[in-house]
Amino acid sequence: MDVMPFLFLKASCIMAGEKIKIQLAKGPAGEFDTGTDIATVLKTLAPDDRNRPVCAKWNGKSVDLSFSITQPAEVEGIPLDSPEGEDILRHTAAHIMAQAVKELFPGTQVAIGPTIENGFYYDFDTERPLTPEDLDKITQRIKEIIKRDLPVVRSEMPREEALALFAGRQENYKVELINDLADEATVSLYTQGDYVDLCRGPHLPKTSLLRHFKLLSVAGAYWRGDEKKPMLQRIYGTAFARKEDLKKYLHMLEEAKKRDHRKLGRQLELFEINDTAGGGLILYHPKGALLRWILEDFEKQEHLRRGYQPVIGPQILKSDTWRISGHYDYYKENMYFTEIEGKEYGIKPMNCPAHMMIYQSKTRSYRDLPIRFFELGTVHRHEKTGVLHGLLRVRGFTQDDAHIFCLPEQLTDEIIGVIDFIKDVMNVFGFEYTLEISTRPEKSIGSDEDWERATKALQDALLRHDLSYEINEGDGAFYGPKIDVKIRDAIGRSWQCATIQCDFTLPERFQLTYVGSDGSEHRPVMLHRVIFGSLERFMAVLIEHYAGKFPLWLAPTQVVIINITDRQLAYAGKLKERFDAAGIRTELDGRQEKMGYKIREAQMKKIPYMVIVGDREMESSRISLRSRDRGDLGTREVEETLQMIRTEIDERRDGTETDEIGT
Ligand SMILES: [Zn+2]
Ligand SMILES: [Zn+2]
Repeated sequence: MDVMPFLFLKASCIMAGEKIKIQLAKGPAGEFDTGTDIATVLKTLAPDDRNRPVCAKWNGKSVDLSFSITQPAEVEGIPLDSPEGEDILRHTAAHIMAQAVKELFPGTQVAIGPTIENGFYYDFDTERPLTPEDLDKITQRIKEIIKRDLPVVRSEMPREEALALFAGRQENYKVELINDLADEATVSLYTQGDYVDLCRGPHLPKTSLLRHFKLLSVAGAYWRGDEKKPMLQRIYGTAFARKEDLKKYLHMLEEAKKRDHRKLGRQLELFEINDTAGGGLILYHPKGALLRWILEDFEKQEHLRRGYQPVIGPQILKSDTWRISGHYDYYKENMYFTEIEGKEYGIKPMNCPAHMMIYQSKTRSYRDLPIRFFELGTVHRHEKTGVLHGLLRVRGFTQDDAHIFCLPEQLTDEIIGVIDFIKDVMNVFGFEYTLEISTRPEKSIGSDEDWERATKALQDALLRHDLSYEINEGDGAFYGPKIDVKIRDAIGRSWQCATIQCDFTLPERFQLTYVGSDGSEHRPVMLHRVIFGSLERFMAVLIEHYAGKFPLWLAPTQVVIINITDRQLAYAGKLKERFDAAGIRTELDGRQEKMGYKIREAQMKKIPYMVIVGDREMESSRISLRSRDRGDLGTREVEETLQMIRTEIDERRDGTETDEIGT
């Protein structure tokens, strides 16, 4: 079907009329005829703008350059190399890719093609599954379409007409999407050459503006994520305004692949997940369990130092508890249940209720507050099989969970204490981080006064720290506002780990009180908080952050002793005893293998130090030292080596100085 009629439709909407005042954001104003397009407005008001806008903001709303002005407004050009410009670029890239696929595989139906962080995808119903070779062909065709320099033209039409248009083109998924729209809706379409797509826009004005792109992968995806619906072919791609940024991003993806914690988890013998035990349930192997112990010990020490008290709750609690806490009503689908003597028990998805009961077990005075309960609490939550992912999305995990009970006037200080804590911990691992405050959502409980006080306490804490933060309006939990901490790893990816959450409901539901200085009972204020988040998730992040090359203090094996021949085996054994006695986690590789082979293997296992002993070392009671990251460190005294390694462990040196990845 020809699309020209819709272009006329658009033209007919333009009315000649009086002049309208248009204000350029951070620039001059001017008067224009009604119906002038934004491209002309921008060219007139900012003739020297080198950023060459590809779209515009019209009173804050994103529009195409072809948008015709109808009323006084503020206008701002969106350059291609801005976050919004790049999003529009990727969106247009998705359309061009869809056009390429339709040209190469006639009969293909297109489904949806949104942008995602750093890229885009499009779902296609093709006659056969697509292969990596197909991606090469599609890439070539995209380049041709770019060369054709097709204008990307917006048009609008009533819903009924759009239905007829896409039905005529046998685009059944588009028909289904339009059918979901309200009857009176006007539908906007974008056309480039023969290709028409249903889209809100805006888009780049022409296909030649797409230059630096890459198709990344193809995978099956169900229509609307529903396994009962048809399986579609989803092609992922990315595009950037600048060539260097695309290169950097592709490099980052390569790095991420090498650092995949599932792959390194096998290589370093840290953990496994198997079907017999069940999906999302982790079996820690000795080295992984050791790594977890190290992290747990670190956390226990840090919590004790900061005035937290350990508590431990049971793994299962009667459903009565979950009724009081509200989980039975609001969280039941995510919980697992069991039965004892005809009574229903819930496996805990959260640690809070036990901590509430422990608080409640005796009379608390205002002098006792703040009280900080800490637990390395293992919880189970239901996740669909499809979303499980290594250590990152699991069904059983352990949180470094604490609940802080305090007086209202202590709240800000308590939050500051937690932020200090987070800062110290993230520094140890070399993570940079950003903070976000999420405020009251539409559906929420608690008084305005509670929300204001808690939100202000969170903000005050950040201000007193001179920390900048972003605000996610309305993104808080229904029971209180929160601070989320996002950490950045060594290759620039961000991960959500720590959170600090105010809660007005649980103290209420569990009837928690303290006796105030006035002698009467009051409700304490309560914070939930985690620092790592979950140990599993944090370990995944650490494995990928360090690419498996853990700093010395975290490495499950810190030193491996390698003898060159059997003659030094007894000497090597004695050395191991000395390293063990110094509290250094040491292995002895006494196998009858070549030294070079043993060193390569130690390097593969990313063991920080190799102590090598041959006849010469043995005779002089010395050792040769080799570092995973710095190579040969020469012959040394044993005592001096022990001290050097001990100091490095005690100082918890970061170990991320070296960026290149071993195998
Ligand atoms: Zn679009
Ligand atoms: Zn909690």
